[in-house]
Amino acid sequence: VGLDAELERLAADLDAAAVLRGGGLDRYGTPARGAPGHPDAVVRPADLEQVRTVVAWARGAGAVLVPQGANSGLVGASTPPPRRPDREARPMVVLSTERLRAGPVVDPVARTAVVGAGVRLSELNEEAAAHRLELPIDLGADPSLGGMVATNTGGSRMIAHGDLRAHLLGVRAVAADDRVSVVDELTTLRKHNVGPSLTQLLVGAGGAFAVVTDVAVSLERVPRERATAWMVPVDGPAAIAAVVDLEARGAPLSAYEVVGAHALEAARGVGPPGADPFGGAPAPELSVLVELSGDDVAERLTAELERLAADGRIRDAVVQPPTRAWSLRHRITEGLRARGAVLGLDVSVPRGSLDAFRVAARRVVARVAPEAEVADFGHWGDGGMHLNVVWVGGDEVPAHRRAELVDAVLALVVGDFGGSFSAEHGVGPHNAAWWDRTVGDGTRLALQGLAAALDPLGVLGHPGLPYRGGPAPPAATHPGTAAGGSGSPNNDP
Ligand SMILES: Cc1cc2nc3c(=O)[nH]c(=O)nc-3n(C[C@H](O)[C@H](O)[C@H](O)COP(=O)(O)OP(=O)(O)OC[C@H]3O[C@@H](n4cnc5c(N)ncnc54)[C@H](O)[C@@H]3O)c2cc1C
Repeated sequence: VGLDAELERLAADLDAAAVLRGGGLDRYGTPARGAPGHPDAVVRPADLEQVRTVVAWARGAGAVLVPQGANSGLVGASTPPPRRPDREARPMVVLSTERLRAGPVVDPVARTAVVGAGVRLSELNEEAAAHRLELPIDLGADPSLGGMVATNTGGSRMIAHGDLRAHLLGVRAVAADDRVSVVDELTTLRKHNVGPSLTQLLVGAGGAFAVVTDVAVSLERVPRERATAWMVPVDGPAAIAAVVDLEARGAPLSAYEVVGAHALEAARGVGPPGADPFGGAPAPELSVLVELSGDDVAERLTAELERLAADGRIRDAVVQPPTRAWSLRHRITEGLRARGAVLGLDVSVPRGSLDAFRVAARRVVARVAPEAEVADFGHWGDGGMHLNVVWVGGDEVPAHRRAELVDAVLALVVGDFGGSFSAEHGVGPHNAAWWDRTVGDGTRLALQGLAAALDPLGVLGHPGLPYRGGPAPPAATHPGTAAGGSGSPNNDP
């Protein structure tokens, strides 16, 4: 039976809007970063039972389901690979969660919310705002709650509130075992200590193991006030010393974002004139967006900036309203895209080593790709750095540079600095080779066992995920892996 007939059978079991085929699927095949993929079809179940029907269908039809939420993931795991008949003959079907839109049901007394996996973070926060509550995860995209579970979203306010995992109370999810089991751990209880949690094992699993259909999270009070400033540390070590000082003095820090000169220039390049805190002067080698949240934080921020200046940590600071201060920070991605072809690496090291790592990484880039520039920025408060290598004016990352550069920088991160090859974007075909290289045998075996129990046929997740069920493709040669290289532009930090 051909795929068309199989899909017709599926559509008859679901509804007319549930199965999409033919033209118009580009949106589902185009990732936020990396080469476009090729979905053979898109299925859009509208509730838990429809998800079960789709998963059962995929088992029978021999199809691979790639779950997709807002498709803002940056490691290539939310869209099927480009068509490679030599490598993967199974039909590649996007399972879009965009119709899983239950809720949000906000409980202002318990400070919790329950939502369908396809609901966006902004939609949840709009509903929560009516109760002066929020899920305090802040990033330059608007992900779905299911995608946030699958990638364990971090973001700029992680320094104060933690990542998605820190707010997750439970999920409901559909596995691809022979019963198409429902994992039902959807609870809003905070105190619920009842043994191992499958919910936690689905965090960061990137669509392998099970399809998340519903999510329960804890919420926090929206702070009364936020105060922000851009400051210029005297040097890299001072940027770290300043965050340590602020914490030691109990300042209610909610973000500490460090931006390198080239990244700041890139953001300036696409901003409205006059929005720049440094008035068009040459970009400082490092600048920091610092944010405090809570009561009377405007006065507190001014006092802290004076103290940091008196202690010789900073040489300049400009207080700006939060919207204005953040608009510069949030323009970096767009600015880098406009500047040229970007190879983006999302890494972390212990934060005391960030400056030394930055110096060493620039040396590595200068050796491997002397024609490129480094435009780095990131969540330094949490040890994170988006290390972007930019070919100014280029359309594409030169294929002959990509693999060597990725390997050299990540070897430095992991081997020399004890850092992570994926600070917050999770694991996908772009970096699967590094998961394979660095994971311990105990973890690998346990996850293989889990995959065999929850998805023995390998129905769920991008085929480039290294810990999915079923027969594994050779990770190092899969299209889009760091080692294999997709040869495509990576135009997003
Ligand atoms: C401009 C920009 C800025 C960003 N900034 C940050 C940042 O600061 N911090 C950060 O952590 N990330 C950041 N990201 C990355 C991205 O937004 C997050 O990884 C986000 O959590 C992905 O959610 P999504 O709904 O878009 O998931 P998708 O991209 O649709 O999917 C991501 C992964 O989750 C799986 N998945 C999706 N839904 C489900 C489901 N219901 N069940 C099972 N698996 C599922 C997919 O198969 C895939 O493996 C940024 C992205 C962009 C474009």
